[in-house]
Amino acid sequence: MPELPEVEIIRRHLDAELRERTIRKARIRRRDLVLNLPTARALARKLEGRRICRVDRRGKNLLFRLDGEAVLQTQLRMTGRFALGHQRPDSSLYRHIVAVFELDDGRNLYYDDVRRLGGFRWLEPQEWAALDRSLGPEPLAPSFTARRLETTLEGTRAPIKNALLDQKRIAGIGNIYASEALFRARIHPERAGGSLEAREIAALHRSIRAVLRDALQAAGTTFRDFRAVNGSSGSYQHKLRVYGREGEPCRSCSQPVERSVQAGRSTFLCASCQK
Ligand SMILES: [Zn+2]
Repeated sequence: MPELPEVEIIRRHLDAELRERTIRKARIRRRDLVLNLPTARALARKLEGRRICRVDRRGKNLLFRLDGEAVLQTQLRMTGRFALGHQRPDSSLYRHIVAVFELDDGRNLYYDDVRRLGGFRWLEPQEWAALDRSLGPEPLAPSFTARRLETTLEGTRAPIKNALLDQKRIAGIGNIYASEALFRARIHPERAGGSLEAREIAALHRSIRAVLRDALQAAGTTFRDFRAVNGSSGSYQHKLRVYGREGEPCRSCSQPVERSVQAGRSTFLCASCQK
């Protein structure tokens, strides 16, 4: 599932291309893509004639800010991807186009989703405000300080890895970057969140930001299905230190990287480096 860096890469691309464009026509082929309106046609009707003011991101959510303060929220989940152009994109990469948005400059925005796990949600301004409030701080924002991380972990019995995945505590971190940040901070993922000492919290805070920044610089991690707009892909998978490296030597101490399962998700760690 795309995490903060991958969604941010997509956002930058879409924002640069779609600002001030108007959606002339929306063709949404699957009812199950529309998460909070009764029909696909109902969403299409709301979108047609709207101008895209900008494309934002909050956590792992992509947000099309429309005129009239409405927001089209998208979660790409595992398999959602966009393409933009005058013609249908390369069918070897985009075989399951399930929505097409015709723009006033003659181009189309295509949405492809083989498993249709992603989808669209129409948010009125107050609904968007409620979603925004329900999410934790953006880890790359200046307001996300070590102190803020400490506060959110205070008294937490849940394992630190699970706490990092909790979008209400911090927005945008998923399985890949939680594992990577904990490795860099040399913290064992099963430690209780509230048991971290001040210096460990400071190290974790630095690691979270460093991992996300490095991943952004590499245009994200390409795992299975992730593609940015028009099929381009990131390269951070070559820099991962633990995630997906079960049995391979730790880059720091050469012991084999281990995989465990926490809350139903794979966690990768080096048991000799992470305490
Ligand atoms: Zn190690």
